[in-house]
Amino acid sequence: MEATKKTILIVDDEREILLTLREFLEMEGYRVLIAENGFDALKILNQGEIPNLILLDMKMPIMNGWAFALEFLNRHDHISPIVVITAAGDAEQRARDIGAIGWVEKPFDLNQLLKKIEMYSRKPPAPTLPISL
Ligand SMILES: [Mg+2]
Repeated sequence: MEATKKTILIVDDEREILLTLREFLEMEGYRVLIAENGFDALKILNQGEIPNLILLDMKMPIMNGWAFALEFLNRHDHISPIVVITAAGDAEQRARDIGAIGWVEKPFDLNQLLKKIEMYSRKPPAPTLPISL
């Protein structure tokens, strides 16, 4: 059922990661949105998307993970949980810095990542009833 699929927004400047994760998560039944930096992610959110989870890289050009998280809090009140994906050994600290619900260290195991996504993602929205005008 398309309406009850969970939506995951992946924000990462490495194209390879975006495409690999998108393919994997789509096969697992998720709807996947991708952005190459925080600015593009905000554009998606400003269009009214409310992802069930955001996977967020920290080091990105144009707008990095820290700046994105701040803007997301200010404009959207952190309506979606964030899981940080980072190569850093201090992933846990980075997650805490920005109020993320969890973290995954790169390079990640896809099945481990999937478990975290299942654990942390919000429930899908109830299907909306058609509105007759
Ligand atoms: Mg990066």
